[in-house]
Amino acid sequence: MGSGVSSLFADLDVEVETDAPIGQQTWYGIGGRADLLVHPRSVGDLATLVRRCVRSDTPLRVLGAGANLLVADEGVDGVVLRLDAPPFTEVLYNARGAVETMRAGAGADLARVVMDATRRGLEGLSQMAGIPASVGGAVHMNAGGAYGAIGDSVHSVACLTRAGEVVVYPREELRFGYRETNLPDPVILWAAFSLEETDPLRLRERVKEIFAYKKSTQPLAEHSAGCAFRNPLDPVSERRLSAGKLIDEAGLKGLAVGGATVSTRHGNFVTVRPGTRADDVLRLLDLVRERVFAHCGIELEPEIAIWRRGERTP
Ligand SMILES: Cc1cc2nc3c(=O)[nH]c(=O)nc-3n(C[C@H](O)[C@H](O)[C@H](O)COP(=O)(O)OP(=O)(O)OC[C@H]3O[C@@H](n4cnc5c(N)ncnc54)[C@H](O)[C@@H]3O)c2cc1C
Repeated sequence: MGSGVSSLFADLDVEVETDAPIGQQTWYGIGGRADLLVHPRSVGDLATLVRRCVRSDTPLRVLGAGANLLVADEGVDGVVLRLDAPPFTEVLYNARGAVETMRAGAGADLARVVMDATRRGLEGLSQMAGIPASVGGAVHMNAGGAYGAIGDSVHSVACLTRAGEVVVYPREELRFGYRETNLPDPVILWAAFSLEETDPLRLRERVKEIFAYKKSTQPLAEHSAGCAFRNPLDPVSERRLSAGKLIDEAGLKGLAVGGATVSTRHGNFVTVRPGTRADDVLRLLDLVRERVFAHCGIELEPEIAIWRRGERTP
């Protein structure tokens, strides 16, 4: 490791893995490695690291659960953060009369958070049943679906700015749009949610029903990163069109490049066999965009985050 790079964190309480196989840690289970995978152990040291990366123009990326991510075969440079130490994964409940606020670290596993809230009979996150994510990753892109999105119950979000300062955004300052938010900062630290007490048994039934719906419509057991493309805006009605339907209508279900295939179950899912090259997925995504454009004149935009070496990070 070059002394220039190690000076970013040599005096900090962080665990550093070099040449880390992060592609294998995504839901796709394919793709390249990270030059540096850094696990910070405190918010203070993470803040210092973020500040130093920004000042030295070192690329900085945050890896959540890797459920919406494709890492290019050549891997990524700079620093990849993984928020898996206790200060970033804890979940706290705070009763305020009949309404509770729950605060979950960005690195917490969303499925566990949903299960725990359900067990306590607290409604607000049942719409997220069956969506694989870390809390930070889900907030970053306002993950959701037919039953609602995570932003529906967000009370506030804490982030680290590029200057390494902690900022807490109250609900009034947050905008949750279709698979996007207005959060301007590189790292989400935690999100607080407003939850309402309800009957735990009825809530459990609702979560089961939502999960069953997802299972019946999406290839959950296969390796994918969820929906490959964003639902595009209809230029006439300005309503969102289903990217999956456009792909289906263009006759692309089952189309394959190498080990990457357009799912026959859901046209907007690209699934892979173990050992597939990330490049096959990228080529298939290009092919689908071309063919959908040729079929209906609509340009699809990827929903999946694609990480490539040498690319500037947002
Ligand atoms: C089988 C399957 C089904 C899916 N179904 C759905 C669905 O129904 N609805 C839906 O919306 N999505 C769905 N997805 C996609 C995925 O679940 C969501 O996009 C989820 O929000 C990804 O979260 P993550 O933690 O895995 O993020 P990652 O994939 O790790 O990262 C995605 C992006 O978020 C950023 N990010 C992650 N954590 C942070 C943080 N702490 N601070 C700042 N940025 C961060 C990353 O840098 C990256 O740009 C599905 C995926 C799979 C594999």
